[in-house]
Amino acid sequence: MNTSACQGRTLWQVGRLVADTARGDGSDQDLELLDEIRRAAANMGLVGPAVSLAEDPPGAAQALDTWLAAGHHGEMSYMARLGRHRADPRTWAAWSRRVALFAQGYDHGSPCPTTPSRAAISRYARGLDYHDILKENLSRLVLIFQKAGYRALPFVDSSPLMEKALAAASGLGWIGKNGNLLLPGSGSFYFLGGLVTDAEWPLDSPVEEECGTCSICITACPTAAIIAPGIIDARRCISYLTIELKGAIPRDLRPLMGNRVFGCDDCQDVCPFNAPPQPAGHTAYRGDQIHIDLLSLAALDAESFRQRFRHTPIWRARWRGLLRNVMVALGNWGSPAARDALAGGLEHAEPLVREHAAWGLGRIGDLTSLALLTRRLPVEPHGAVRDEIQRCLAEAARA
Ligand code: SF4
Ligand code: SF4
Repeated sequence: MNTSACQGRTLWQVGRLVADTARGDGSDQDLELLDEIRRAAANMGLVGPAVSLAEDPPGAAQALDTWLAAGHHGEMSYMARLGRHRADPRTWAAWSRRVALFAQGYDHGSPCPTTPSRAAISRYARGLDYHDILKENLSRLVLIFQKAGYRALPFVDSSPLMEKALAAASGLGWIGKNGNLLLPGSGSFYFLGGLVTDAEWPLDSPVEEECGTCSICITACPTAAIIAPGIIDARRCISYLTIELKGAIPRDLRPLMGNRVFGCDDCQDVCPFNAPPQPAGHTAYRGDQIHIDLLSLAALDAESFRQRFRHTPIWRARWRGLLRNVMVALGNWGSPAARDALAGGLEHAEPLVREHAAWGLGRIGDLTSLALLTRRLPVEPHGAVRDEIQRCLAEAARA
């Protein structure tokens, strides 16, 4: 995951300068705590801690400003709202002296199905919600800090901090051209989290960026969302479109989404650093989300969606968002076998679902699908849905 990255490739170089000039060795008590945390983290299956100063990762705030100013964050207004406050841990915990970064592997085993009738769900979303699991692990580490008389606060994604920039500054990995943090020798199928603490631990050095001349991820991106090495235009990224975007998916991007209904792994799948076999990842992140067909997702009602996905990352898309994505995927399947599910979507209570169901029927484009659209048009109360139906019928007439 980590698709919202906006940090530049040279962070590690700048970060190394800072680490070399500001290195502190820590007291014996600090170092004893560090050893204890290392052991506890390893027992939990965490990689880390990698330690950096509790301050702006070099260049991160400026890179974030540039990314926000270009509008690459799309509807993620919380990123604009928090702005550069995200970069500096001290704005969140004034007493903090160090940031300790951790990574927790998730199931990287099977790639998403490419069969058009099956739902492609990003690997990270196949099990339980990482916010809960990783935060719980980090909270157990916090207890160790507290017992030793230190302060510590955990953060996982939902906090106001920039995990990836901090992780790069701490040497946990480097930010690849696909915007993900790559752990040396281990790749990018990891969740990131960390702790801010007042323990004066020795600093770790940033690692060498190893992408080199490779740019496979940039060319593999189905929507050309990687606009420069390490910089993602979220407005084109399928992860954003299927998870964060609350409204209609831009029409020109829908055909490029294929069967992806939640997230996208393409730029990670092709990365050579993800090719070698890796440990299986935390068991909580393994699930059966790889075996779902689109028709069964389209048939979910609100309650069955809640029961099935409440404790998984898919919950974030909400029922209407997932159904919107499924309607697009059914349209991309393009088979008459998808028609009944799309016809059901065209009658859905949510205009957003109806709009994308109309698009899906237009994409199938056979006489029966067009008849369904024609029948719906005079009774459709919502303007955006009517517009979509009219566009589909006009396109069919031109074809
Ligand atoms: S490959 Fe997928 S996840 Fe990666 S940037 Fe492109 S659309 Fe986003
Ligand atoms: S695919 Fe190549 S360029 Fe992209 S992140 Fe991996 S190593 Fe770097």
